[in-house]
Amino acid sequence: MTEEYTPVLVVGGMVSGLSTAAFLAHHKVPCIVAERRAATSRHPRIRGVSARTMEVFGQIGLEPAIREIDDSATEGSRVILAESLAGREIKDLVPPHNQTFEGVSPTVEAMCDQDLLEPVLLERAQAMGADVRYGTRLLWFEQDADGVRALLRSVDTGEERTVRASYLVACDGTHSPVRERLGIGRDGPGIFGHRYSVLFEADLSGAVRGRSIKICLIERFPGGGLLPRHSGRWQLTVPRNSHEGPDDFPAGRVVKLIREATGLPRLDPVIVSAEPWQVGALVAERFQDGRVFLVGDAAHIMPSTGGFGGNLCVLVATLGTQDFPDLDGAILLLEDVDEPPYKVDRMLTQLRRAGVLDGRPGAGQVLS
Ligand SMILES: Cc1cc2nc3c(=O)[nH]c(=O)nc-3n(C[C@H](O)[C@H](O)[C@H](O)COP(=O)(O)OP(=O)(O)OC[C@H]3O[C@@H](n4cnc5c(N)ncnc54)[C@H](O)[C@@H]3O)c2cc1C
Repeated sequence: MTEEYTPVLVVGGMVSGLSTAAFLAHHKVPCIVAERRAATSRHPRIRGVSARTMEVFGQIGLEPAIREIDDSATEGSRVILAESLAGREIKDLVPPHNQTFEGVSPTVEAMCDQDLLEPVLLERAQAMGADVRYGTRLLWFEQDADGVRALLRSVDTGEERTVRASYLVACDGTHSPVRERLGIGRDGPGIFGHRYSVLFEADLSGAVRGRSIKICLIERFPGGGLLPRHSGRWQLTVPRNSHEGPDDFPAGRVVKLIREATGLPRLDPVIVSAEPWQVGALVAERFQDGRVFLVGDAAHIMPSTGGFGGNLCVLVATLGTQDFPDLDGAILLLEDVDEPPYKVDRMLTQLRRAGVLDGRPGAGQVLS
């Protein structure tokens, strides 16, 4: 069997893997990206690219290409709770990303769907020399003091080859087989919700009625709602039971759910893609094991509600990640609801041992 060498083997070729490849290539470090899927994401999860992420993308010249697909100028402004899109509005909610970075950052956040963002990252990574291989699965790896040996298999042909790398970067998602193989556990509040998202095409202008909708939460689908996507597409998110997967959402059920959410009983939507996902907050116990690094969802997952920092569990879960808030000069006020005292004690101990509480002039705590 042939063995090839690369300085860095990146496992996973979605947003984290492609970003890693683009940054490595920018620094003239060759890499191979192995992704078992056939292509970049068809189903968008990401829409908001934060100002901080835009700053680092800007450092490798990616900002102009991302601004080309950034549709924040036409982004709706209202987050509403309604009986259905066409039906009665119940109330207006505060938009999740309403902070401005004017004066503190040279850039601002971008709004672009993941299915448009990843091809931009891929093009840049390849243009700068990264070797990105879709349809390529990592089967196995081992490491020694000098590097990593990995076995890759082509999904189409079954051809196998070994790759010797100085480093392996695991961008292989929340279930990260690499992290599992290394036996690295995760800590944090855990998984606290299960959702199913469907991307579809339909003319909903009648139901929108000229309103500027950013998100329409639907009362009968707690934690779910309708989100406008690019090119006139929409995404419906509904709660699901933890055991329900794609087979439990046949086309008939999906169309019924879309009709309920839109309030349009005769709507004939075209289903583009669908995906189950989990809401959770978990951080890997460590991000490195010898010559292997964890990046992206493999390293940590966060809920998409924007609850970064005001909640003790999430604050602790973000320790050691870029999401941890800057507490310099801050008064730390912790609020937590329905948390047993022993858990609060454990989390405060963790913050104290991590040095986060050192030098804080005062700390308050609200428990209810
Ligand atoms: C509904 C929703 C909305 C979101 N909105 C936002 C947002 O607005 N902004 C934001 O920043 N984040 C958002 N997120 C989070 C964001 O989508 C994820 O953090 C991000 O997509 C994770 O990317 P990743 O590359 O780390 O992992 P993934 O996208 O999961 O990619 C991992 C890849 O590794 C591959 N892989 C796994 N095992 C192997 C193997 N053995 N061999 C080869 N390949 C392998 C998989 O096939 C997969 O493609 C959202 C998430 C959800 C669910």
